[in-house]
Amino acid sequence: MNDRPRIVIATHSKHKLAELAELLRPEHAELVTLDALGISADPIEDGATFEANARLKARFFARLSGLPTIADDSGIEVAALDGGPGVRTRRYAGEQATDSQNNAKLLAALAGLPAAERGARYVCVLTLVIPDRGGPRGGLPIAAQSRGTLRGRIAGEPRGQAGFGYDPIFEPLGEPPGGRTLGQQTAAEKSAISHRSQAAHRLALRLRGLGY
Ligand code: IMP
Repeated sequence: MNDRPRIVIATHSKHKLAELAELLRPEHAELVTLDALGISADPIEDGATFEANARLKARFFARLSGLPTIADDSGIEVAALDGGPGVRTRRYAGEQATDSQNNAKLLAALAGLPAAERGARYVCVLTLVIPDRGGPRGGLPIAAQSRGTLRGRIAGEPRGQAGFGYDPIFEPLGEPPGGRTLGQQTAAEKSAISHRSQAAHRLALRLRGLGY
């Protein structure tokens, strides 16, 4: 019988799941997925910020599972689009948009802009909610929230198959214009610099402090 405490990684994205499982590695707790718990529901992500969306996802899935829950909200902010698509990153080209439709729309929006005007950053916010540490008003309090960012620029065209989402068109800081996108880098190279790993490292410290 396994009596390690369980923590839910509340994402239906298998890519985020793989990255987070690799990055968080709690000492005592076991990470469980929504699939393993048979949870297929999704909240409406109508927050105005990554923080608000990560909070609402963490609370939603903590309520459904009754377990400590970590949610990820992430996206890309493009300087030439005044920080857009931001919280609309996943739905940039429409409610059911695929990664390649989103990438194509972003490339079209920046068409003709030189490298210096193609600056962008990835943002990741991770939120941990622990249901049985309920707040005084019975709400589900935020036990921890952390943010990580990765600066870079939008490439002229997609290159590489690695990663997910916007990775084939994202040249991280340190690459020259036309250099390797995250789609052309290994998982280890991405996790050495990524927004998600920075947020996860901070959260991992907090998990340790909480005894997980
Ligand atoms: P969410 O699932 O609502 O948080 O939406 C996240 C959006 O940001 C999706 O479109 C992802 O493809 C994109 N995104 C988040 N993190 C990354 C990343 O590490 N690489 C590429 N795209 C990402």
